[in-house]
Amino acid sequence: MHSKIYLDNQATTPVDPRVLEAMLPYFTEHYGNPASRNHYFGWVADEAVEIAREQIATLIRSAEKEIYFTSGATESINLALRGVVEMYRKQGNHIVTVATEHKAVLDTCVDLEQQGCAVTYLSVDRTGLVDPEKVRKAITDRTILVSVMHANNEIGVVQPIGEIGKICHEQDVLFHVDAAQSVGKLPVDVQKMQIDLLSVSAHKMYGPKGIGALYIRRKHPRVRIKPQITGGGHQRGIRSGTLPVPLVVGLGEACKIAVSGMESEAKRILALREKLYTGLSAEIPNLLLNGHPDRRLPGNLNLSFGGAEGEALIMGMPDIAVSTGSACTSSIIAPSYVLKALGRTDDQAYSAIRFGIGRFNTAEEIDRTIDIVVKTVNRLKKLNRK
Ligand SMILES: *Cc1c(COP(=O)(O)O)cnc(C)c1O
Repeated sequence: MHSKIYLDNQATTPVDPRVLEAMLPYFTEHYGNPASRNHYFGWVADEAVEIAREQIATLIRSAEKEIYFTSGATESINLALRGVVEMYRKQGNHIVTVATEHKAVLDTCVDLEQQGCAVTYLSVDRTGLVDPEKVRKAITDRTILVSVMHANNEIGVVQPIGEIGKICHEQDVLFHVDAAQSVGKLPVDVQKMQIDLLSVSAHKMYGPKGIGALYIRRKHPRVRIKPQITGGGHQRGIRSGTLPVPLVVGLGEACKIAVSGMESEAKRILALREKLYTGLSAEIPNLLLNGHPDRRLPGNLNLSFGGAEGEALIMGMPDIAVSTGSACTSSIIAPSYVLKALGRTDDQAYSAIRFGIGRFNTAEEIDRTIDIVVKTVNRLKKLNRK
């Protein structure tokens, strides 16, 4: 009779009912194309798009004109990295990034290396943090872009973005931030943090899948990028294609909810995470926390359960949706490169589980999770001892 417990909110989040409600009229009633300039249906759609742009801009403290809609953070990241590389070729070809970035950044960097770019992949300390001084030292005359994520999707670690932004601006290098995990959950201020390009995803913040945004700074400095999708000249030619108005409205509404609710939600979710960690630590010896103890997303808990393999643990708890510290790459299971970058052993990485707590989780679900995880770990450890 017990229902499933969703604790994988770093993979994706459910759409908030308020978001869905805001979206619905734009499927059936207000179905105009926002690019239709000469009739009512187009105007209504265009107005909705502009309100959404404003809602995103308010959340990250940018101007509306600096927001471009994309299909998600992966596209935003591609547009930022490739767009800058192609536009600033004459100034240089060097990119600085971090070993623990999301694959959307790392795979794009590998592709850019094949096109003649040089990429520096900075290492992190044992807690997952990158030292801003390492960024400063990595910058050369040929560096055009630094790309660092705000919050990590596996271990939740929050990088010192403001300090890195300051260094980038002192050195006249553009700064891109993958903020897919942080926007809506942590304060993001592109002015204070001196960010030039910022990638956002709606489905990580209770909005719909298939929509994201890229912030592109217009002043101090004015960032220019080469469009990657052409045809029609929508969004000032930076990203052509008819805008998916219902999704755009959904992203806007998700941002609006975050503006008013972020602080209290972070507190509530942090309390649930502490409850989970305390409950598990009390019953399971030798738990290992992956990532910095405090400088992490409120909802993220990544733990290694020495002696019980992550995959087996997950299989043993079909009612709990979590994720392991490993990834399937071409059908072989490899330990997570993020956990390896922290200096974890293969065994520690294979025994890792990521718990992602979100807006709709309850204290009762956390209690049940503690109960189920403890029982499953004990059962597996007993089996392994035989
Ligand atoms: C989910 C995620 C992405 C990719 O976002 P999509 O919108 O799914 O393309 C990029 N970076 C991080 C850190 C993420 O968590």
